[in-house]
Amino acid sequence: MLKAFLPNDYVKNIYAITPEYLKERNIKGVITDLDNTLVEWDRPLATPEIENWFKKMKDHGINIVIVSNNKEKRVYDFARPLQIPFVFKARKPLRRSFHRALSMLKLSKEEVVVIGDQLLTDILGGNRSGFHTILVVPVASSDEWVTKFNRKVERIILNKFAKKGLLKWGESSSGK
Ligand SMILES: [Mg+2]
Repeated sequence: MLKAFLPNDYVKNIYAITPEYLKERNIKGVITDLDNTLVEWDRPLATPEIENWFKKMKDHGINIVIVSNNKEKRVYDFARPLQIPFVFKARKPLRRSFHRALSMLKLSKEEVVVIGDQLLTDILGGNRSGFHTILVVPVASSDEWVTKFNRKVERIILNKFAKKGLLKWGESSSGK
């Protein structure tokens, strides 16, 4: 049952996911969450580091779509300056937005990873839709109030995974 929440990889942050890391796994496209995955949920714009990450991916021919449960203005204001396509009010873990993002990428499922900081939305949704999933440690330790309940459930699941030795850190991450 809990397997539905188990990510394929678990990394320290988005920067552990490099073009080399993706190429080793034959990945050509990325569906990524926004809040607390790319930047803190209350930071309106990308940091220079995030801009660089996007640029590096683009230089290696890896296409990205941002899929966020947040509202249009938040996602638009963040993604527009970066010229990254996006889906807002995605209602993850529902499958619909993942499929929409996949058609925007024009790739097959096997060529795409789903990245996010939440088991109950990003990872569950990505797994249900049949993608390779990567969990990142949240950028900020604070959350929007709606997320707080999910985090409690998430902690219980993560502890269970840890006890069973199921969660493995991605090879490119620099450890705990
Ligand atoms: Mg998030």
